[in-house]
Amino acid sequence: MSQDRPRVVIAGAGFGGLEAAKALRAAAADVIVIDQQNHHCFQPLLYQVATAALSPADVAWPIRRILRKQSNATVLMAEIRGIDTSKRLVHTDSVTVAYDFLVLATGATHSYFGHDEWAEVAPGLKRIEDATRIRRRILIAFERAELAADDAERARLLTFVIIGAGATGVEMAGAIAEIARRTLAMDFRRIDPKASRIILIEAGPRVMPILPENLSAYVQRTLRQKGVEVLTSTRVVGCDSRGVDLEGGRIDAATIIWAAGVVASPAARWLDAEQDRAGRVKVGPDLSVSGHPEVFAIGDTAAAMGPAGEGIQAIPGIAPAAKQMGRYVGRLIAARIAGARISPQPFRYRHQGDLATIGRRAAVVKLGRLELKGFLGWLFWSVIHVFFLIEIRDRFVVAFIWLWDYITFQRGARLITRVPPQDRS
Ligand SMILES: Cc1cc2nc3c(=O)[nH]c(=O)nc-3n(C[C@H](O)[C@H](O)[C@H](O)COP(=O)(O)OP(=O)(O)OC[C@H]3O[C@@H](n4cnc5c(N)ncnc54)[C@H](O)[C@@H]3O)c2cc1C
Repeated sequence: MSQDRPRVVIAGAGFGGLEAAKALRAAAADVIVIDQQNHHCFQPLLYQVATAALSPADVAWPIRRILRKQSNATVLMAEIRGIDTSKRLVHTDSVTVAYDFLVLATGATHSYFGHDEWAEVAPGLKRIEDATRIRRRILIAFERAELAADDAERARLLTFVIIGAGATGVEMAGAIAEIARRTLAMDFRRIDPKASRIILIEAGPRVMPILPENLSAYVQRTLRQKGVEVLTSTRVVGCDSRGVDLEGGRIDAATIIWAAGVVASPAARWLDAEQDRAGRVKVGPDLSVSGHPEVFAIGDTAAAMGPAGEGIQAIPGIAPAAKQMGRYVGRLIAARIAGARISPQPFRYRHQGDLATIGRRAAVVKLGRLELKGFLGWLFWSVIHVFFLIEIRDRFVVAFIWLWDYITFQRGARLITRVPPQDRS
């Protein structure tokens, strides 16, 4: 690292942070990427790890390896705890790092709407550890049901509740239904996995509200065909280790999965900056933080607006948006380091579309006017997701696994590893 070159610190090596780092590859700067994990996680396929279709290493890659050829980039594994904007320092759990430019890309996490105590019994899906924990809970529920002595307990163990019917909730519900009705159908002697109840609960009036009504209705119909009970306009008012309380009743369930809400990382607090209701840092048209032209927030941790007058509202918290923001900020910083004096063009978000899969041979795709569903949608979804995996090896591996699972109905990663005390219910 040089003493004279400007130092760009990138906090978080998710979709946004990595893209910012790559955009600085030719800049005369030292780029320091800090992440609390040693790996970048491809979150759109995490539910496949949680439902035993893929293994963790198929959807996550060491950050060091991704950036190994970028000689101006250094990777530090450390947890950011605070920022001193007056001294331009990032404080972590182990080192303090000085910056000339700072890019905050620390993402978001689950929000339990003021009920953080639900987190233990209703884990959300964000990191590899969450996925393996949920996988363990799902598989253990079947094992315990095989051992259960009474019918009520067996029924509780074979009830899976997913809270929140956005893309993640829908994908989880569809995949658990397939595990129960197909993958495990022949594997047990004392229980019939096909008798499992998979219940998807949504507080709003329809599933996947981001989609137009016809596609949302298709998703709901397909879920029902796969044996998922869909409860819309239904509010969860309590979660405990034995089930969920609804406004109008209770469901006994051994497995509860939270897919209902997100809150930004504490970046706004670190900066003492203005934030929106989801805790995201409010940023200007060039994604910089008010009063700090050298500090930027991007991706899920930023509240950025689309260009005024074009009917575009808040930029959504999805991977393409984070990548576009990362690329924009990386290029902007590189231009400033190279001495550019003109004001930058404001960031313009290009929405590429929405897609989600409901399981085997069923997905929805909305790209502008193009709408695909069913097998075609599923094929498109599969190709897109394989294409965006980082390692070429994993593209082949994942494509092969999906093909194999498609033919055999199997899920190869059905391993129950360590069982922590809280999962021994
Ligand atoms: C289960 C799931 C499924 C999804 N499916 C889709 C999908 O199908 N399509 C889609 O477009 N989007 C999807 N998304 C959303 C998408 O993954 C996010 O919008 C995207 O990851 C945001 O990128 P980011 O760079 O802002 O944050 P992230 O990718 O979340 O990266 C944040 C990084 O910051 C690090 N970090 C956080 N806090 C700290 C700290 N204090 N110190 C150091 N490092 C820290 C984290 O370890 C992480 O590596 C999904 C998200 C989830 C959780």
